[in-house]
Amino acid sequence: MAVKPRRKAVVVDVGGVKVGGDHPIVVQSMTNTDTVDVPGTVNQAMALARAGSELVRITVNTEQAAAAVPKIAEALRHFGVPVPLIGDFHYNGHLLLKRYPECARALAKYRINPGNVNIGRKTDDNFRAMIEVAIENNKPVRIGVNWGSLDSALLTRMMDKNSRLPEPKDAREVTLDAIVVSAVESARAAERHGLSRDKIILSAKVSGVQDLIDVYRALAAVCDYPLHLGLTEAGMGAKGIVATTAALAPLLQEGIGDTIRASLTPLPNGDRTEEVLVSQQILQSLGIRSFTPQVTACPGCGRTTSTFFQEMADEIQTYLRTQMPKWKAGHPGVETMKVAVMGCVVNGPGESKHSNIGISLPGTFEEPTAPVYVDGRLMTTLRGDRIVGEFIEILNHYVTSHYAL
Ligand code: SF4
Repeated sequence: MAVKPRRKAVVVDVGGVKVGGDHPIVVQSMTNTDTVDVPGTVNQAMALARAGSELVRITVNTEQAAAAVPKIAEALRHFGVPVPLIGDFHYNGHLLLKRYPECARALAKYRINPGNVNIGRKTDDNFRAMIEVAIENNKPVRIGVNWGSLDSALLTRMMDKNSRLPEPKDAREVTLDAIVVSAVESARAAERHGLSRDKIILSAKVSGVQDLIDVYRALAAVCDYPLHLGLTEAGMGAKGIVATTAALAPLLQEGIGDTIRASLTPLPNGDRTEEVLVSQQILQSLGIRSFTPQVTACPGCGRTTSTFFQEMADEIQTYLRTQMPKWKAGHPGVETMKVAVMGCVVNGPGESKHSNIGISLPGTFEEPTAPVYVDGRLMTTLRGDRIVGEFIEILNHYVTSHYAL
């Protein structure tokens, strides 16, 4: 089954990164440092950008944080990593953006949560103030509804209306409807206040996989704003990764989604860049975008009881990843390369033949040799204790000869 053609969304320019239309689905991430800590935030934003995050969101929650934003942007430029920064605002965004015009100028986009500005109330001055700053600075906004902070007045109105229907919907359905209505009505309000259509991105995040799929299908059906996909509060470790993948994959497969984020909870002192790698891997596994050569490795079984092949698969994967920044500049297309590292001859040669380069390591009781296939043909057979080093040499030669500028 092929991925369906992308839903045609308006194109929004976020600090030079195009979101929507036929542009590649953009990977983004968010820092978890205190924005006031300029060096800490700069370091993390650089790490995220170097891992492949094309946009980086930072919290702007206090006057000190707003004052730090231009310094962070300047430092990123200074270090040669000018990744566009998105300001995440809640409650006081209207005040901070007005009081700190340099912050408003330094950010590439403002995230507005309609649940905690006064949109939908009699006067929506706070929301309007944020939109006016966006217009003044020619910046786009993301109107990001989150069910944890859904506009309660809107939800109450919709629940009341639903209860008067002859056949009322259940509370879940009404809540999901309210999320969609909140996002779309807020976008329409921003347009009424003068923001152009090509300055608006929408998101509607929930933490349940099936809920997320339903909400985004509904949102995609009623508007053509670009959509930012993400399962909010996905969680830690395998649970967070699997839930995010389970939620995003069906939508991406249906052509829904123009930018994505994996909201993973890192372990204490864990690596924040994992969320970038997970987003990239989702897109690459679906065949939507390629970021880094892929290693196919068998799971191993009783036929290969040594850990050598697991260590080798890990070493090769790490090697490919660490080479990518260098290769990306000089060897275009290398990100589509497929490498197989297999535990024995049962499936090894077959899988190797489907890869650009593949190696089958000797299983238990097998002759201690490792056949290497290049472009489907047996190229050589390695043996001895330099197998990994020699395989890497073959890899390097393949990259320089097949992916030249
Ligand atoms: S390729 Fe060999 S070692 Fe790997 S899972 Fe299959 S039979 Fe087991």
